[in-house]
Amino acid sequence: MPGYTSKDSSHQDSSSSHESTAPFMQVSRQAVITMGVHALHEIGSNSICNVCIANGGSCCQGCRHLVKGIGCQKRNTSCTAWLCGFLKFFLYETDLLREWNDFWEQVPGQDYREDFTPEVFYVTKSLHLPDLRNLSEALATDLHELAKSHIAIGFILTLREKIDKQIDQLHECQHTRKRKTKIKRNIKILSSPFHRFQKELHEYRQKFPIS
Ligand code: SF4
Ligand code: SF4
Repeated sequence: MPGYTSKDSSHQDSSSSHESTAPFMQVSRQAVITMGVHALHEIGSNSICNVCIANGGSCCQGCRHLVKGIGCQKRNTSCTAWLCGFLKFFLYETDLLREWNDFWEQVPGQDYREDFTPEVFYVTKSLHLPDLRNLSEALATDLHELAKSHIAIGFILTLREKIDKQIDQLHECQHTRKRKTKIKRNIKILSSPFHRFQKELHEYRQKFPIS
C-alpha cells in the first residue's frame, strides 16, 4: 500500500499477551490523511457535502483553519476520520462503517479540529473503499429534493443529526439484540425518504451481498 512499510509484528510489542498475526506497517501521518481523503473521494462524499453545504450545514463552519474560497489550511487526521450523520449512514448501509472505524482507531492523537498524530507510526489495517459514486449521487439528489420540498429551514440538517445519533447508539449497544432491532428500525424510518438511494443500494447489495 502506498506510504506503508511492512514490518514483522513479532518485534512490535514483546509485552503483549495477544499474538497478532497481522503484519505491522509503518505509515506516515500524511499518508493516512491522503488515504482517508482518497477513500472519501472514491465513495463520492463530495456530492453529499455539496448539498449539505448549500443548505448551510458545513462541518467546517467557524473553524479558524478555514480560508474563504480556498478551503482547509490544516488538514489533519481527526477531521479526515470524522463522519457526520450522512456519511456514517452511507457507510453503515454499504457495510463499510466498521472498516472505516477500524482503520481510524489505529491512528493516535486525534483531537477536535486538530491532531497530535506522530509523523510516523504503525498500523495493521489499511483502508480501501470502492467507487460508490452512483450511490452517493443518488443520496445527494434525495437530500436536495427533500431540502427543496420542506419549508422548514435546515430540515435535512436536523435529519442528519437524528441519523447520526441513532448510528452512534447502535454502535454502543452491540450486545443488546432488542435495542439493536429498535435502533435499526428507527434508522429505516428516518431514511425512508431516500428513494433513489434505496434503489441504488438494493442493486449494490445484490451485486455485493452482506455476509
Ligand atoms: S457535515 Fe457531512 S455532508 Fe456536511 S459538509 Fe460536513 S462531511 Fe459533508
Ligand atoms: S481543520 Fe477540520 S474543521 Fe477546520 S477547516 Fe479543516 S477540515 Fe474543516
